[in-house]
Amino acid sequence: MIRKSRKSPREVLMDTLLRQIPKVDDLLRLPALNTLAAEVGAAAVTEAVRRTLDRLRADILVGTVTELPSTEALCAQISASCRASRLPSLRGVINATGIVLHTNLGRACLSDRALAAARGVSQGYSTLEYDLTAGERGQRYAHVEPLLCRLTGAEAAMVVNNNAAAVLLILSALTAGGEVITSRGELVEIGGSFRMPDVMAACGAVLREVGSTNKTRLSDYANAISEQTRALLKVHTSNYRIVGFTESVSPAALAELGRSRSIPVIEDLGSGCLVDLAPLGLRDEPTVQASVKAGVDVLSFSGDKLLGGPQAGIIVGKRHYIDLLKRHPLARALRVDKLTLAALEATLQAYADGTALQEIPVLSMLAQTPEELHQQAESLCRRMGGIGVTAEVVSTENPVGGGAVPTQTLPSFAVAVVPRDSAAALEAQLRQRPVPIIVRIAHDRCLLDMRTLFPADLDEILQAFRETAS
Ligand SMILES: *Cc1c(COP(=O)(O)O)cnc(C)c1O
Repeated sequence: MIRKSRKSPREVLMDTLLRQIPKVDDLLRLPALNTLAAEVGAAAVTEAVRRTLDRLRADILVGTVTELPSTEALCAQISASCRASRLPSLRGVINATGIVLHTNLGRACLSDRALAAARGVSQGYSTLEYDLTAGERGQRYAHVEPLLCRLTGAEAAMVVNNNAAAVLLILSALTAGGEVITSRGELVEIGGSFRMPDVMAACGAVLREVGSTNKTRLSDYANAISEQTRALLKVHTSNYRIVGFTESVSPAALAELGRSRSIPVIEDLGSGCLVDLAPLGLRDEPTVQASVKAGVDVLSFSGDKLLGGPQAGIIVGKRHYIDLLKRHPLARALRVDKLTLAALEATLQAYADGTALQEIPVLSMLAQTPEELHQQAESLCRRMGGIGVTAEVVSTENPVGGGAVPTQTLPSFAVAVVPRDSAAALEAQLRQRPVPIIVRIAHDRCLLDMRTLFPADLDEILQAFRETAS
């Protein structure tokens, strides 16, 4: 029989290390941690000390730590852990991906005017549902409805939480209990659980698919119309395109058919662009004005895609239908907050003032020319070189993102950083900073694309590389 009487050298070392771990109270008496406690409170520091010592103990037990850190190093770890745990979970990041409408990174960045407006109405009380002229209860939608009508040419407008909510409200209010005729080429899934056929089912409407994946003709819609038909629906294929041997029905032709048969025509425009993007090199993104002019009865689009405003679902169209939507019980559940309305009104005002291209970050980012981006990349690359970072300027191609112009890219430039260790390690380090920097990896390099960087981001980026280099 073998008796295990003696500990292995590894176990002896482990025991020694575990015994040498400082006591919580001893650490808390250190001047460095006292200073920290004065700043963030004693409880937060105590918690950070416990967390750090637990980690150290665990690392010793699995053998990744074979030597105790110095007291200074331990204090630095505790301090870092303490500060990290106090960072908000939802916080600002630097988007160096070059994708302007990055859904995971919050889509549209708001203009200064929109931010000021949101602050202005939320710091104190506001006219949210108060009519100053009459001195009595007013309408929440009244703040943006006239602007939306003026900009789009529509008769009436309302705003809900997001475009998914807008589609839900429209279908529930106008089509429940009946059939909705839609092209097989437009049964869109926009990610998450938002699939057109499922949404329709949830709204109590029956989907009546017509045509084929690549071709749908006006006669397909016309032949499918019956007693049960409640609406004809067009969905903008915002995140894909069907190309090749294709045919689809224009909003104008569908609107004409709807009018002749007294059936409302609904269009989910997805992105909801108010300006022609062709001068920026982006083709085929329909404008809201064009669909209104074509005679579509009810249209919906997002506030935080190409429009460049806050998350919102904007609905415009014929007054009769918009009134039905405003009165529907779901409208109350999907209603927008004052912060959203204020930011949206300010964003729309920039379009009305003709300053949208300069003022709205989404549009000004998209409007940057390759020459401007190249110059900015050269400048950042030189500054990086100055602090010992190996990098070069490379040309890139970025999608716009956020379900807009899916098959096209915009040419841009990036600073490609050669990592000291691995690109994945550098990417993770940049991502885990208090102000995270989100980069793309290509050919073992970390790419900082200029299109989505604000001037103020550049100093933070340089600081990050100074710290990761040390
Ligand atoms: C993005 C999109 C939606 C959803 O809009 P959200 O504002 O994200 O809710 C719906 N339909 C289409 C076609 C879209 O592109």
